[in-house]
Amino acid sequence: MLKDKVALVTGAGRGIGRAIACSLAKKGAFVIVNYNGSKEKAKETAALIEAEGGKAAVYGCNVADFEACGEMIAAIVREHGHIDILVNNAGITRDNLLMKMSEDDFDQVIDVNLKGCFNTMKQVSRQLLKQRSGKIINISSVAGVIGNTGQANYCASKAGIIGLTKSAARELGSRGITVNAVAPGFIETEMTAGLSDTVKESLKEQILLKRTGQAGEVAEVVAFLASEAADYITGQVISVDGGMAL
Ligand code: NAP
Repeated sequence: MLKDKVALVTGAGRGIGRAIACSLAKKGAFVIVNYNGSKEKAKETAALIEAEGGKAAVYGCNVADFEACGEMIAAIVREHGHIDILVNNAGITRDNLLMKMSEDDFDQVIDVNLKGCFNTMKQVSRQLLKQRSGKIINISSVAGVIGNTGQANYCASKAGIIGLTKSAARELGSRGITVNAVAPGFIETEMTAGLSDTVKESLKEQILLKRTGQAGEVAEVVAFLASEAADYITGQVISVDGGMAL
C-alpha cells in the first residue's frame, strides 16, 4: 500500500514514533528513523523493521534546529529522489504549574514540539510542491484540545500544532498535499510511565473506554492517513484517545 514511498518519522527510536515507523514500513514504505539523543534505540527500530523484511535508515537530527532539519530533508531527497510522508512525532514534556514553570521549560517545549514541526514542514514543502503530492501528519495531543493542569507549555505547543496543521492544509491542498493531525490520549510509553499512580487513575477515569491506549493504536491511524485511502482527508484532527476529549 505504501510501496515505493519514502517516509520520515521524527523521534522514531522509541514509543509512538517507533510504532509509527514499524507500521509504515510494514505497509511497504522506506522509513527514515529520526532520533536526537537515542541513536542505539533508533538503530533498534531500524533492525526491527528489517527483521520483518522492511527497509529503513537512521538519521540523527534535533528537530528544534532549523538548519539541521533542512540538511536532513536535503539528504533524504539526494538519496531517494523524493520524500512522500512526513510524520512529526518528536515531542518532550517539562511539566510544572504555570506559577512555577521556568521560562526555559516553556521555551524548550515550544522549540521541540511546535517549532520542530514548523522546521520540518517548511523544509519539506518545496519538495512536496514540486512533486505535487505528499502527506504530512503531525502528532498533537488530547492536551492540546482540552488543556491540562501542569502542562501549559505542552498544551500550548500541541494546540499550536493544530493551528499549524490547518493553515498548512489550506496552503498546500491545491497541490494535492494533505496535512492532518492526530491527537492521542493517554498512551503507554516512557513519556507517561513516570506519572504517579494517582494521576494515572484519575486520567483513566476520564477515558470513556476505561483503559490506556497502546502506541500501535496511534500508529494504525497515522498509517491510514499516510495511505491513498485517506487522499480526501485534510486539515483534520483525529483523536485516538478512547473518548477522553469528548
Ligand atoms: P517518548 O517515548 O518520550 O518519545 C519521544 C520521542 O521524541 C523520542 O523518540 C525522542 O527521541 C524524540 N525527541 C525528543 N526531542 C527530540 C528532538 N529535539 N529532535 C528529535 N527527536 C526528539 O514519547 P511518546 O509518548 O512516544 O510521544 C511521541 C509523541 O506523541 C510526542 O509528540 C508526544 O507529545 C505525543 N503524545 C504522547 C502521548 C502519550 O500519552 N504518550 C499522548 C499524546 C501525545 P530521542 O530519545 O532520540 O531524543
